[in-house]
Order: sequence, then structure tokens, then C-alpha cells
Amino acid sequence: MSQITLIKNAHVFAPRDFGICDVLVAGDRIAKIDHNLALPENIGQVVDADGAWLLPGLVDSLVHISGGGGEGGFASRTPELDPREAFASGVTTVIGVLGTDATTRTLNELYGKARALDAQGLSCYMHSGSYQFPVNTLTGSVRTDIMLVDNIIGVGELAISDHRSSHPSTAELLRVASDARVAGLLSGKSGVISIHVGGCDGRLQPLFDAVSNSDIPISQFYPTHINRNENLLQHGVEFAQAGGFIDFTTSTTPEILASGELRASRALRVALESGAPEDRLTFSSDAQGSMTNFCDNGTLQDIEVGSVGSLFDEFRRAVQAEGVDFVRALQAVTSNPARVLGLRRKGGIGEGLDADLSLVDPESFTIRHVMAKGRWQYFDSQLQFRGAFA
Ligand code: ZN
Repeated sequence: MSQITLIKNAHVFAPRDFGICDVLVAGDRIAKIDHNLALPENIGQVVDADGAWLLPGLVDSLVHISGGGGEGGFASRTPELDPREAFASGVTTVIGVLGTDATTRTLNELYGKARALDAQGLSCYMHSGSYQFPVNTLTGSVRTDIMLVDNIIGVGELAISDHRSSHPSTAELLRVASDARVAGLLSGKSGVISIHVGGCDGRLQPLFDAVSNSDIPISQFYPTHINRNENLLQHGVEFAQAGGFIDFTTSTTPEILASGELRASRALRVALESGAPEDRLTFSSDAQGSMTNFCDNGTLQDIEVGSVGSLFDEFRRAVQAEGVDFVRALQAVTSNPARVLGLRRKGGIGEGLDADLSLVDPESFTIRHVMAKGRWQYFDSQLQFRGAFA
């Protein structure tokens, strides 16, 4: 029997501010949002939010769910995602990708991990491909991957302007982009191309070149790590003003910040102040990826692993430390990524949408409860999730 939950007296941000409302959840969907809702006696659960903020579950568009790089040798291979980390930090949707290492990490493995996370209650999709060209695929082509494999929604992250990239030509980029776009159109998916942008001088120029040499819309490309440095951020603002989405990475280290990276929260404020449209800016965690810091001569200085919890932390920091408007900051981790990814039932609170929610204490700005696909996975700051073995 499907579960019914009534959340009373919540301050709903959908992400738009709805004020104080009641939200009725039936099964894995939001059934109704209204005032003074009631349950028939003895059916379902009532949770009084007492004015706490009810936010959409966060959408993380880039997670190396099966582990990403390992540029410090095999001992530094990064671990896979534990769904408990996502639930405890309000993340209810993730997009899994391969990364630098597509030799010992495969799309078969990524697919298995994505299916596992989905079965464990986290909504999980994935991209075909990896950093390299030619693009590696599950079924033999990007087109059949997107059209025939339900949870594959796009391609990426393909690397440009990076020493680890295969340095694709404009023609190669366009071939992949048109394959992904056509497959997306035919299957009702986004067919988005996630682009890892490195620290080389070319910045976003390969994408501007591709767009100016074709009629593929700029929004088909979704470049990430745009907060890598001030120079790339300014190019990113131009990209967003031209209609593209740009993504800021929330996982970081003091060493990476010292080398010129801006925190995602600061990049959001700077981008908004520089005139980037608020509906084109997103955050992703790059969780389970390796966070590397290379010297100017290319020697690896240090390596750490990204965390899915950084997504909520940077959202909070954008509001508290950078003074970004609450709804604008919330959009960057909910409705904006859902839109570029074509996930129509994600990233918002509305009737018929998936019941992915998090209740946040307004005093402490900390997460109290998290619901994913209609189930409480985190309640009163305690994990409810139980895996097959623990
Ligand atoms: Zn990357």
C-alpha cells in the first residue's frame, strides 16, 4: 500500500516562496499543496514542520558515483558514493559520470552503481562517455545509449581546455553534440553534453566555436568547473548571457582555493553581479572525484576526494556569507539543474512532482528531515536508510 504523509505548517520554497502551507505526499509524488489540509483518521503520518523551511531535494548534476580519478597512482583511486552521505545532506537526485579514469572504471560498472543507488531510494541517472574522445559508450553509440538505456540522459563529462583531455576538434565536438541532441529529442530526454573545462587558456572557446559553426543551441552544452579561476568565470558569464547554462563546483580544498579558484558561493554572487541570468547558473558537487592540485610544471601536488555534502554547504554559504538572495541560491541547486538535465519532476515542490524534500531549521540553517521518492531517509537528523548489508 502506498504511503501517505502530511507535512503541516511548512514554509515552502518551491523554489519560489509559497509562504506557510501544508504539503500532502501520496506514494512517491506530491499530491496537494494547500492550507488547512487534513488526513482521514488513522491513515498516514502527520509531521508538523512548525514553520521550518521545506525545500525541494537538491539535484546534483555531477557525481562520480562509482569513483572518479586517482591521479596519484592506484592507491589514490577515489571511492564510490555512499547514499547515506547524499541523504544526510539533502541531495535526492544525482547524475553519475565516469571521469579521468575510463580504463579501470567502466560504463558497465557505472550503470550497475546507478541502478543500485536508484534501488536504494536515491534518484540516479547517468551520462554515457567519459573525458576522452572517441567517446566510449555502453551500446556502441551515444545515440543508442541515450535512446535505449532508460537512465542515460546525456554524455559527459567530455574534457576541453585540460591537459587530461583528448583535445577534440570542433568537428568532433559537433558530431557528439548532434548525436546526443537528436537522441534526446527522439527519447524525450535532454541529451545534454556535460563538459569538463580545465585550466588551459582556451577556456570556453571550443564551445563558442562549436556553436558558431552549427545551429546546435548553446544550452546543449553544459560546462562545469567555471569557478576554477576569475578569468574562466568571466568567460562563463558571457556563455550564460548567450543562453548557456554554467556550473560551479562546490567541492574544494584550501590549496585549490589558494591557486585561484573561487568558492561556488562566491562565483554565484560574482556571476549575478556581472549580469549572468539567474536561471542559467548551477552548482554540482563533483563528489567522489579526485580534487587535484598540479604545479605549473605539471607535477601533482596533492589529491583529495570531493563530497556530496558540499552542495548544501555552498548553498548556505551563498546566502549567509555572500548575501545572495535565498531563492536565487536555491534555484542553483534545484530547479536550474533539473531544467538543463530535462528532469521535469525534479527540482521543485508542486503537485504531481516527485516527493523529494528537505526540511531545514531556519535558526541553524541545518537539515532536519530528508524525504526521497516519498520515504524519509533522514529524520530528526538521524539516518533512516538501511542498505542490504547494514
Ligand atoms: Zn571534471
